[in-house]
Amino acid sequence: MPDSRTDRLIRVDMTQGSVEIEPVPEAWQMLGGRALSARILLEDCDPLCEPLGPDNLLIFAPGLLAGSAAPTSGRLSVGAKSPLTGGIKEANVGGNPGQDLMKLGYRAIVVTGQPADSEARFALDVTAEGASLRPADEHRGKWNYRLIEDLAAHYPATASFISIGPAGEMRLSGASVACTDQEQERHPARHAGRGGLGAVMGSKGLKYVSLDAGRRPARKPLRRKEFMALSKSFTRTYLEGPAQEPFPKWGTSVCVSEADKIYTFPYKNRVEGRSPDAETLDGMRIVESFEERGGGMHNCLTGCIVQCSNIVHDAEGNYKTSALEFETLTLLGSNCGIASWEDVADLDRLCDEIGLDTIETGAAIAIYMDSGAMEFGDAEGAKRILGEIAEGTELGRTIGNGAVATGRKSGHARVPAVKGQAIPAWDPRPLKAAGVTYCTSAMGADHTAGLIVEPGQDYEEAVRASQESQILNAVVDSSGFCQFLMPNLDEVRAFFGHFLGCEVSREAISDLGWRCLEDEWEFNRRAGFSSADDAMADCMQTDAIGPQELVWDMAPELVARAYKRFEPRDELFELRPS
Ligand code: SF4
Repeated sequence: MPDSRTDRLIRVDMTQGSVEIEPVPEAWQMLGGRALSARILLEDCDPLCEPLGPDNLLIFAPGLLAGSAAPTSGRLSVGAKSPLTGGIKEANVGGNPGQDLMKLGYRAIVVTGQPADSEARFALDVTAEGASLRPADEHRGKWNYRLIEDLAAHYPATASFISIGPAGEMRLSGASVACTDQEQERHPARHAGRGGLGAVMGSKGLKYVSLDAGRRPARKPLRRKEFMALSKSFTRTYLEGPAQEPFPKWGTSVCVSEADKIYTFPYKNRVEGRSPDAETLDGMRIVESFEERGGGMHNCLTGCIVQCSNIVHDAEGNYKTSALEFETLTLLGSNCGIASWEDVADLDRLCDEIGLDTIETGAAIAIYMDSGAMEFGDAEGAKRILGEIAEGTELGRTIGNGAVATGRKSGHARVPAVKGQAIPAWDPRPLKAAGVTYCTSAMGADHTAGLIVEPGQDYEEAVRASQESQILNAVVDSSGFCQFLMPNLDEVRAFFGHFLGCEVSREAISDLGWRCLEDEWEFNRRAGFSSADDAMADCMQTDAIGPQELVWDMAPELVARAYKRFEPRDELFELRPS
């Protein structure tokens, strides 16, 4: 049974068509997921490279604990220089590829180069026998569900897949990377959505990656007895505690009504923070549909004890889509003035099929509607636009390239984005700490980089809270744990210690998160980013929402304090991801 000391890296050169396997350097032993992706990009990738050119790297790195018996720990980081932001990007995703890659003993796949023929498509197969590239032209242009159906007929039932749809093949900046979930059907419903990393995969001619770990057992921790005891006690405490209450019942869509109450359920391109459609978009409506139509809650990866992912059926009881989440209900729903969760479910399925980030795409459609080119609430029109993206029409390409591209093309100034990336549902006007994260994270506007849901927070405290949340989330995204498990730093360091067979101090675990942030900031600095890129979107500073007329009004000098490390306080180690 392999353990962390024998882990290897797979290096794939798409120019040469070669695959090499090498050991993980000793200095990287504690690195996995996002921290490993950031280190590889900083050391091996020219920050000034063209994101869709041969010199960019595309990295698939499971978290350190993926493939082990630690609960809910199989998440995968996808990393590259982003074609959307021009900076470093990590998008974190569920499904089983992260589990399988680590069970095979691979800490990361690093893809470089580009085939001479831009129409050529390739597949990378990873098994216990090694890794190999092969031509996959027959799959060119396939939508994700059709692709996986076809692959399922040829690969063992134990294989999982990472793939792109037509948006990635067209190299659109809103393109996602799909991962199959753990269900027998292997739906490509889990997406590394943010930052356009599907376009980077498309630029490398890589249509899919298959991972077959067969029936390999869980990875072996170096202190096995202690690790298993910790996994057991953590699971018991979690399942008996209040933290797990809402997610297994309703998923993240349960956030709709609460978010609406605190003015962070954006409406019509964010002109309002509340939506008259909160009732019809509430996750409760989805849960109510389970009884009549089937569907229900499930875990997207093996070993998840949270099970926050919903499976949504249509009126005839057939599978439609999976993980209709809060962000999707907001950006493709209320933010486009679309009131029906069923329409949003259709849009979500189309985005998963074509391989698109639902946040970026929803924001882009809302900007297009706001420009006057289309009515808010036109759900059928929104579906037609997604069809145009798949066809590659001029309008389709514009929307598929995201919010900023759509604002530019339509000459519309209200573009809620930071560092080129659309702002997610959580609104920086009531949630100042989230705004600090959007401005200072190397990722741009990304709630998964550090979210604190606390309206009315003192501004100085918001800066500190953002930094603490950014450190915590960098560690969690490097561990393989899902943020919805909400582990704190003390819990993560205990798991790391037993897994690696060494003591991991509070200092070491917080340093891991901080160093990851520093690597990401340094990559962006070398890519030409400056403090000017930290500016909040103009419309967030001018367009007020709610009775308190909330705008983004934090001084840039105050926001910039998030770059200077605060003295760690006990709260840092007890904080849980929001
Ligand atoms: S908590 Fe939800 S998103 Fe996270 S791994 Fe489990 S099912 Fe997937």
